[in-house]
Amino acid sequence: MEAAATLILDVCWRGAMEKAAAVAFPNEACGILMGQRTPTGWRVCDVIDTLNTSPKDQTQFFEIDPKALFEAHRRARAAQDAQEVIGFYHSHPSSQAVPSRFDREHAFEAGKVWVILGGRDEAQGPVEGPSAGNSPPATWDMRAWMSGPVVGAVFRPVTIRSATSDSA
Ligand SMILES: [Zn+2]
Repeated sequence: MEAAATLILDVCWRGAMEKAAAVAFPNEACGILMGQRTPTGWRVCDVIDTLNTSPKDQTQFFEIDPKALFEAHRRARAAQDAQEVIGFYHSHPSSQAVPSRFDREHAFEAGKVWVILGGRDEAQGPVEGPSAGNSPPATWDMRAWMSGPVVGAVFRPVTIRSATSDSA
């Protein structure tokens, strides 16, 4: 499948999401991606960790804290620096970094970037090293996706490009 777009992601934001995923383990971590649009996709400018407010089993489900999301939108409007809520991240502690059916059915906004940190590879084994069991995986498989045009639609893959200080 052809990548829909490119996400420019500084290593510090990658690290922040990995840390949040490890802290939340075995539950799903989640948060908000603030950023700017680029000609080919998006650039992440900030990552806001939020509570997982899902009333369901949080090892399998997540819900971005609605208060944090409201505040992020408010902050973006007030700042007037072209930053906006470009999307969200969450972890899949015991599955692949691929949008689940639940994710597709809860993607209410089209064309948002979704970063998913998977703790399992295609064979459903840990991404790296011996079986993780009760501890978070040593490394996470981080992938990005773009939500589809309608709720329930298949997400399109997004290429993650590490940012360096000289990147335009
Ligand atoms: Zn998910």
